[in-house]
Amino acid sequence: MGRGSWPLLVTVLHVLNKIALRDYGARITGVQIGEDSSRIDFKWEGFSPAVVAEVEGKVNAALAENRALKAYTISEAEFRQRDDLRRTLTAEPPVVDGRVRVVEIVGFDAQACGGTHVATTAEVGHFRITRTDNKGRINKRLYVRLDD
Ligand SMILES: [Zn+2]
Repeated sequence: MGRGSWPLLVTVLHVLNKIALRDYGARITGVQIGEDSSRIDFKWEGFSPAVVAEVEGKVNAALAENRALKAYTISEAEFRQRDDLRRTLTAEPPVVDGRVRVVEIVGFDAQACGGTHVATTAEVGHFRITRTDNKGRINKRLYVRLDD
């Protein structure tokens, strides 16, 4: 059984999409979170089996740094000027009373998100990419899960 708790998966998505963007210029186009396995679609130029192992290692190393997460809101106007807070190509974050929620992994990443997360990255456990599918030249689907 995978550790399907929603906040764990939502948290590891932040770490994964940060590393994908920062190190590979890859962006998320869709996410489906499931109890046992979750899938994430990316536009990812130069994706290969070697990259899969490398990304897994980088994500687990980042989780093990045991960084704290915190959430706060900024004005929608500020958000419009902060491209760095944007991760998906498809979805706009919710705007509530003119404000956008930001989730920060302290010292590592900040991105717009309305979801529920864990308090520290070490709670997430071990991250694995179990399978990848080609959905086109640069469209890649990753199946991921968490283990104790
Ligand atoms: Zn989130």
